[in-house]
Amino acid sequence: MTDATVIDGKAFALGLRQRVAAGAAELKAETGVVPGLAVVLVGDDPASWIYVRNKGNAATTAGMRSFDHRFGADTDQATLLSLIDRLNRDPLIHGILVQLPLPAHIDAEAVIEAIDPAKDVDGFHPINVGRLGIGLPLLAPCTPLGCLMLLRHYAGSLAGRKALVLGRSNIVGRPMAQLLLGADCTVTIAHSRTRDLIETCREADILVAAVGRPEMIRGDWIKPGAVVIDVGINRIAGAEPGKTRLVGDVHYAEAAQVAAAVTPVPGGVGPMTIACLLLNTLAAACRGAGLPPPPEARP
Ligand code: NDP
Repeated sequence: MTDATVIDGKAFALGLRQRVAAGAAELKAETGVVPGLAVVLVGDDPASWIYVRNKGNAATTAGMRSFDHRFGADTDQATLLSLIDRLNRDPLIHGILVQLPLPAHIDAEAVIEAIDPAKDVDGFHPINVGRLGIGLPLLAPCTPLGCLMLLRHYAGSLAGRKALVLGRSNIVGRPMAQLLLGADCTVTIAHSRTRDLIETCREADILVAAVGRPEMIRGDWIKPGAVVIDVGINRIAGAEPGKTRLVGDVHYAEAAQVAAAVTPVPGGVGPMTIACLLLNTLAAACRGAGLPPPPEARP
């Protein structure tokens, strides 16, 4: 097989953002509620600054209120917890996102656990993790939620398909596996200790790669006709000296020769993450106003 379908996450995310904006406008017209997203950033990592700015801009473009809270790298945990407490009680705020990683002197778990689970738009609070685990998701983590949406759109019915999630992190691999289980896939989770990894990959109808290893998954690891979702974002040396480029965890050119459909990097999963953050913020605002969340936010 050649010429796999390119899963255009950029276009899909744009459509999702437009639907979220329409939903936010409807919520405002019906109830006067404007969804509010608070983004908390500690430290001065330039990449994190850009992420936070992009998230704020995306929220504003979708008709939401965006509130940035920036702290120096030496900010203490008590200051951060006091802010979270204030945001939890603020009726203008429906979503709280703390940009990770936090500096080493701050206990990230304690900060995440301090967020009201109803405002935890990243879906990292243990209550939201647990709810996903028992099949009653409230707010699902954005990147895996985005992957599931792409799969539903491009792979058709997921029920009974063999899905392999490569990676078991709390932010991608584990919640991804839970979402696929919720979609009635037969799910395998692989990681650095998995034996016969290549053989295991070759059995998958759906392969989600979240390892953080540039182009690790080669074409001959992929079952012909499989759908491949590449979560990895890796910066490697480019063709010209001093230049770099982004690649995924999957060798895209080889995968495209074998798979039925595959996400490119960039332009695949990446744009879905912010779109799903907005979707979760809208869902939290709807619930706060006593209305059902958009169906898309209920995996
Ligand atoms: P982590 O480093 O937290 O987890 C990586 C996982 O891959 C671990 O479970 C690890 O196994 C497994 N792994 C590592 N090496 C191997 C190997 N050689 N063979 C098998 N398994 C292996 O990464 P994240 O989950 O946070 O991120 C994964 C990738 O996704 C990164 O490239 C990241 O940049 C990207 N990402 C993209 C996002 C987006 O918006 N598109 C959002 C979040 C992440 P073990 O547990 O045994 O160590």
